[in-house]
Amino acid sequence: MGQTPDALNLPSGWRTRFAPAPTGFLHLGHVVNALYVWGVARANDGRVVLRIEDHDRSRCRPEYERALLDDLDWLGFVPDEGTTAEFRAGESPLRQSDNDWRYAAAITALDLRGLVYPCKCSRGDVARLVTDRPNEEMPYPGTCRTAALAPDASLQRRVTLDGSRERFFDLRLGPQEQLPSTQCGDLLLRDRLGQWTYQFAVTVDDLDQKIDVVIRGEDLLASTGRQRALARLLGRRRPLHFLHHPLVLKPGGEKLSKSAGDSGVRELREAGHTSAEVIGRAAHLAGLIDEARALEVREIPELFGQG
Ligand code: GLU
Repeated sequence: MGQTPDALNLPSGWRTRFAPAPTGFLHLGHVVNALYVWGVARANDGRVVLRIEDHDRSRCRPEYERALLDDLDWLGFVPDEGTTAEFRAGESPLRQSDNDWRYAAAITALDLRGLVYPCKCSRGDVARLVTDRPNEEMPYPGTCRTAALAPDASLQRRVTLDGSRERFFDLRLGPQEQLPSTQCGDLLLRDRLGQWTYQFAVTVDDLDQKIDVVIRGEDLLASTGRQRALARLLGRRRPLHFLHHPLVLKPGGEKLSKSAGDSGVRELREAGHTSAEVIGRAAHLAGLIDEARALEVREIPELFGQG
């Protein structure tokens, strides 16, 4: 797996998080992420924070949150902070939609330093402006940065990123280098509906919740440089380490989707599988065990170097 957090000399009780978005039901891809998060934490004296990432109000639904809490309980992944009972009881500092004021305060702090500007560009506008990279991410070309738009011209807000190169060490992939200014350009913090974006909310949360190690799928590797750049602007001094794990794919190579019947935790449970069988299936798909077999939660740390 590469280096463990132990090699980073993190103090016992270092923090990581499991941060699902309630936009669908849990599937084996989430179980693989949970295996890494709990496995690495439990094998190396870390703590797991459960965070509900429901910043996207148009896609998240309370019934998906209830289902994911039930599925986590059934699987036996127990967070050290943000217990499923706390989430069920009502408001939580770990649920994004309950913490609007924290994102508002963070954007105000950036705005006071002259780093935030209103932006009217739609995704289509950006696509038309950036024609030289048809199959890649479209970096925002900075159109509204100097346009001096009135604050009420749009709900969208962007932050000015400097051109710095982000170098970090991924615990699995080794040294990484990213240049957010050409990858994504000035980051969108709030969208045209007034919703906080993933990049902004997750960076504020990782800072406020004193997260030390982010353990997530490789599909988010490209987001890391920009999150580090933004975290610095927000005043982060505490180091943040990363481990990006492989994604599990369908036999044809496609991503598992939240509606995928054959890989949904609920469907597998309804079909009579035990939680240990579901966890074992995920561990096998991720290449963490050689053969599919029942795997109990308490056995997981052994996969990450500790028995
Ligand atoms: N909420 C994201 C997801 O459900 C995870 C984001 C992250 O770990 O940074 O995939």
